[in-house]
Amino acid sequence: MKFCPQCNSIMLPTKTDEGLLLLKCRNCNYSSELEKESTEKYKITKEIKHSPRDKTTIIEDADAIQTMPTVKVTCPKCNHDKAVYWQLQTRSADEGSTIFYRCLKCHHTWRSY
Ligand SMILES: [Zn+2]
Ligand SMILES: [Zn+2]
Repeated sequence: MKFCPQCNSIMLPTKTDEGLLLLKCRNCNYSSELEKESTEKYKITKEIKHSPRDKTTIIEDADAIQTMPTVKVTCPKCNHDKAVYWQLQTRSADEGSTIFYRCLKCHHTWRSY
């Protein structure tokens, strides 16, 4: 969570028309650009490892979810057809990146294989 340097109100991530992530103050409209590294940290707050093969990333910040792109995909849990998605680069080069989905209706999170 970031706070406005001008008035100390909570700042929320907002997406601009150019696709840039900004932190915007609710109170005085002060805004600052999110650095790439801190954007990643903002989105992926927690990673739970059940086993080396079953990795689930939990996004806890509801405000960050709102700025993420949505995609037409069917939720395996409730059959809703829209979810947000994000990519996670895995450490080994041959695995490439993994795409995670999170259902907009029931908030079920799953990864694509
Ligand atoms: Zn402010
Ligand atoms: Zn669902």
